[in-house]
Amino acid sequence: MMTTIADNTVASVHYTGTFPDSGEEFDSSRNGDPLTFLVGHRGMIPGFEREMMGAAVGDTRSFTLEPEDAYGHPTEELIQEVPREMFPEDMPIDLGMMLMSDAGPLRIVAITDSTVRCDFNNPMAGKSLHFEVEVMEVRAATEDEIAHGHVHGPGGHHHHEHEHSNDEAEKGGCGNDGCC
Ligand SMILES: [Zn+2]
Repeated sequence: MMTTIADNTVASVHYTGTFPDSGEEFDSSRNGDPLTFLVGHRGMIPGFEREMMGAAVGDTRSFTLEPEDAYGHPTEELIQEVPREMFPEDMPIDLGMMLMSDAGPLRIVAITDSTVRCDFNNPMAGKSLHFEVEVMEVRAATEDEIAHGHVHGPGGHHHHEHEHSNDEAEKGGCGNDGCC
């Protein structure tokens, strides 16, 4: 039986994402390796997995996700006033600038003499997103992958190194059993 995309499969897809209003491309896997992910473990935005369910190798799908099925809506709580002295004095601060912080990426939305207004909302929050997707590979996930909640092997290494330290306690991690 042919494996199709379902919970606890590992899917590799090529995708191109555009903003439906402008047609502007915001992301594509076409210049590199396909995106590989474990289905059903919240590794992807929810609508993306839902739209790809049941797809087989060679299938193409085209869909537009509303914000609630993608990165959600921006919220006021994620916009915070940060005292100006929290930023290094020699650091250039400009309106619209994206910065990395301990609390994640932020965008500067206002600047006064004493404060900097920082927006921690995902830049994609509030946006509708259109995807063109082609399925390159689908396989059943291994027991280890299901237990860990992520892909092992080709396409999975990158994700692994990044997520492991946080995941270990909760999902069993790889550090102890030499799986990776
Ligand atoms: Zn692992």
